Amino acid sequence: MALTIGVDVGGTKIAYGVVDEHGTILERGLRHSPAGSPEKMALTIADAVTELAARHAVEAVGIGAAGFVDETRSVIRFAPNLAWREEPLRKKVGELVGLPVVVENDANAMAWGEYRFGAGRGESHVVCVTVGTGIGGGIVLGGELYRGRWGMGAELGHMQAVPGGRACGCGNSGCWERYASGSALLMEARNNAQADPAGATHLLRLGGSVEGIQGEHVTEAARQGDRAALAAFESLAEWLAQGLADMAAVLDPGCFVIGGGVSGAADLFVDRVREEFAARLTGRGHRPPAEIRVAEMGPSAGLVGAGDLARLR
Ligand SMILES: [Zn+2]
Repeated sequence: MALTIGVDVGGTKIAYGVVDEHGTILERGLRHSPAGSPEKMALTIADAVTELAARHAVEAVGIGAAGFVDETRSVIRFAPNLAWREEPLRKKVGELVGLPVVVENDANAMAWGEYRFGAGRGESHVVCVTVGTGIGGGIVLGGELYRGRWGMGAELGHMQAVPGGRACGCGNSGCWERYASGSALLMEARNNAQADPAGATHLLRLGGSVEGIQGEHVTEAARQGDRAALAAFESLAEWLAQGLADMAAVLDPGCFVIGGGVSGAADLFVDRVREEFAARLTGRGHRPPAEIRVAEMGPSAGLVGAGDLARLR
């Protein structure tokens, strides 16, 4: 049985585990992410790997990392939320653990996990859209993970949706993720509550004030029928649908998989995304529309995907 270790490195925590060829996690662990120090980060990852490798016969390590990873899957060129700049993570961790290592963008790893073992199973062309604080993405075409020429492909959240629109952390403005992410949902809900307090009674009760409204309040208030919260989800659905329709025009996937933290509230918006997508798709009525599915693997997708990519390296 070919076992690997998958590691999912985020800004606050590192999730890791032993993954078999069926995508099953045999043992897992969680550590605090020393996001500010590349040296401590490499040591922490290596320590976690060594701990598991002592108990399991693993043959390789896959690291999914929240950053721009080069085309050789070795170096993290830049990470918006971590201290990595031109970080040779593959080499550093590889020397510390004595195993082959591959480094992959975390959203790519997540997409690969869903494609192989989750909601994308059975499709050869899958676009995974991770809707969280921002929007991440991964693209599988013809059964292969699409990385682009320099490894920087599938940064779906930074397509410009609105010329001259809301400022984005990437340095541009009007990026799709500023309209269709969890933070956009929250901003929209707060704006709605400000403009129409009478329609936001649940939101305002939960948040205590417009500024006090948090992401989970928007979901809870929407479930209670709060008008402002429902309108925020409606806006999210429309923006998501437009982005998916645009990607369908370019990539023509068999399915989209919606993952990320916001997908936990998918029952509040995914039917609307499907409707709006069908209404906006180019060539509609004369082509099979891509299915829009909700991710199945939750936060484990990245870890499992990274481990699987290490096996297939
Ligand atoms: Zn951007």
